[in-house]
Amino acid sequence: MLADNIFLKVLDKTIPAKVAYEDERCLAFHDIRPQAPAHVLVIPRKEIRTLDDATDADEALLGHLVLVAVKVAKQLGLSKGYRLVVNCNEDGGQTVPHIHVHLLGGRELGWPPG
Ligand code: 5GP
Repeated sequence: MLADNIFLKVLDKTIPAKVAYEDERCLAFHDIRPQAPAHVLVIPRKEIRTLDDATDADEALLGHLVLVAVKVAKQLGLSKGYRLVVNCNEDGGQTVPHIHVHLLGGRELGWPPG
């Protein structure tokens, strides 16, 4: 079971977040429990629960989230590299039911992930 969609409260600013970037389609903010020196989440303003719920109509939006993550990576000076991750559902490790791209960097990241 995924938890409630707490990111709706981040989007409407009921829950404060350290914002890295925002525009009319998305919000990028620092993760509250960072797994790397740089850990930012990029989320759409549109409610989409998981990657499995995205449709062809979301193609440009999903591309936008990735390009915003790249923009934030550059802002944060992650010139040595970084990783983008989208967890999907329980086995994928998704806990918040609102699509989000994790941007992780600032240290050498292990592979494969757990
Ligand atoms: P998931 O596990 O769904 O892929 O990632 C959810 C992420 O959201 C986790 O890394 C978690 O630390 C982060 N998170 C959960 N609640 C909050 C919050 O209220 N504020 C912020 N900034 N991050 C949150």
